[in-house]
Amino acid sequence: MKTYREIFKWGDKREEQIDLNMIRVIKENFGYSDKDFENKHLSGKSEIKNIAASKFDENTQNVFISIVGSENFYIDDFSRANFAYGKYYLDLLRLRKMLIPTPPDAVLCPRNNDEIEKIIAYCSENNIPIIPVGGQSSVTQGTETRKGGLVLDLTKHLNTIVSLNTINQTVTVQAGMFGPAFEQELNLAGYTCGHFPQSFEYSTVGGWVAAKGAGQASTGYGKIEDMVLTLKVLTPAGLIENKPFPKSAQAWDIFPLFFGSEGTLGVICEITMKIRKFRPQNTRYASFIFKDFESAVAAMRDTMQSGIGLPHLFRISDPVETDIAFKTKGFDNTFSDKVLKSLGYKQGKRVLMFVSAEGHWTYTKTVISRIRKKANKFHALYLGKKPTRQWLKQRYTSAYLRDPLMDAGIMTDTIETAVMWDDLVNLRQAVVNYVEKRPQTVLMIHISHVYENGANLYFTFLSPMKKEQEIEDYVQFHHGLVETIVQNKGSLSHHHGIGRTLAPWMEKVLGINSMNVLKAVKNHFDPNHIMNPGGTLGI
Ligand SMILES: Cc1cc2nc3c(=O)[nH]c(=O)nc-3n(C[C@H](O)[C@H](O)[C@H](O)COP(=O)(O)OP(=O)(O)OC[C@H]3O[C@@H](n4cnc5c(N)ncnc54)[C@H](O)[C@@H]3O)c2cc1C
Repeated sequence: MKTYREIFKWGDKREEQIDLNMIRVIKENFGYSDKDFENKHLSGKSEIKNIAASKFDENTQNVFISIVGSENFYIDDFSRANFAYGKYYLDLLRLRKMLIPTPPDAVLCPRNNDEIEKIIAYCSENNIPIIPVGGQSSVTQGTETRKGGLVLDLTKHLNTIVSLNTINQTVTVQAGMFGPAFEQELNLAGYTCGHFPQSFEYSTVGGWVAAKGAGQASTGYGKIEDMVLTLKVLTPAGLIENKPFPKSAQAWDIFPLFFGSEGTLGVICEITMKIRKFRPQNTRYASFIFKDFESAVAAMRDTMQSGIGLPHLFRISDPVETDIAFKTKGFDNTFSDKVLKSLGYKQGKRVLMFVSAEGHWTYTKTVISRIRKKANKFHALYLGKKPTRQWLKQRYTSAYLRDPLMDAGIMTDTIETAVMWDDLVNLRQAVVNYVEKRPQTVLMIHISHVYENGANLYFTFLSPMKKEQEIEDYVQFHHGLVETIVQNKGSLSHHHGIGRTLAPWMEKVLGINSMNVLKAVKNHFDPNHIMNPGGTLGI
């Protein structure tokens, strides 16, 4: 039996348990008792059947089958339900509530670029929406099929490395390749892709580019747009393909238009990326505890602005996230914790920092030793390598907890932004003030992508759902969060992208003139607005 739960479950499909330390935190914060964990709230365990019928008539179906073959054409209820949403909190809620009003009319798995070209041509002529998807890990409703249409699943066939150039140190890869397979092949050849989003296991190279993502080592390796040299994109207006150059001055570049295009301009088929030498034996780690958030931020800024070399992982957790980490790892109230407290690293104030540096051994040695000096300057205590290494072990799996938390009736979501250094502390405080107005809400904040001129702020919030009004309650709360971020000089997103969730704020944030440029670009590449309609630009 195929269920809704099968669709929304993130990560490893085995059921994840909330461990006892986390249960203790939940009980403390939300007044829960054991009884609250007994039954799954909106479990989604019903069978998927009788969802809205496909609008494709027999003739249309036959056209698509003639292009991709019947084995790559799916029109059954489960397949269409499976591709109706991404992994945004609201997507999961709607699946738990068995709400799929606008499933795609069919799902296609093209085998090559020629087939994609034919599909685009037919859909343009017949005004059929196309939603290109990779891992469907979008957390901004980027893959929602609000107008039905055709989902192009690129992961089944377009998932290999096309070529590796060790002289230029580049790789050309098909868009539908998932992170682990990509990285494994690169590692075997002695390289790394350097891009490790928390969704790494279930997202694709094409999705990284289309959503303009950032990985956990982005402070050293850069965001995805810093890594890409060429793209091959099939659009309704034709093929756009650029040649690789280390840099050029051939007027302005067109291919960066596709970073963050979220499927609204065309299908990204191939990507040529920079790669780096894979030398895990040289990676060095360090962890610190700071007395407060402000001094940890100051140490980060000082590190980034003083030219001592870049760490790769560079992350701080605010006092709430730090305290919860201490509790969930069973560290609070241990002897070591008491020592920390006696040294002035107080609960409710202290801040954890995790650092790693990759590359040549002389580089990693220097960077880590200089960061230790910087941390010392800001009165931090060095905690050794272990906490960072432990954090890295659960770098992807910590997100698996979202489903069991939702089973326990807990709203759990994240939102993130980029902000200049001089506005960062104010912005954080504004969000804290906003969230404090909602009773029984835990807000954890971290910084994990750091630059010379500013950083990202990443907010994770947990709060009991308002039963029977789960969706309305969330939408209202989330709206206020976005408003608070925008009003306090944060960007709409640093790496999750815009999708349908944040599209309504685009004009306000960019201004009408910039928005008109984006719309003109859209009108050029996709005059009939068939590419992911209603996404990013709202058209
Ligand atoms: C638990 C979790 C953790 C996450 N952590 C991170 C993180 O650390 N960093 C980060 O950057 N993001 C993160 N994300 C968000 C998401 O994983 C990224 O946006 C990722 O890059 C999306 O890749 P995907 O292959 O899943 O793309 P999808 O979700 O399938 O698609 C995303 C968007 O890109 C479009 N698209 C996909 N492939 C193509 C293509 N080939 N051509 C044209 N358009 C295309 C889609 O139409 C959609 O609009 C996280 C998500 C989850 C669920």
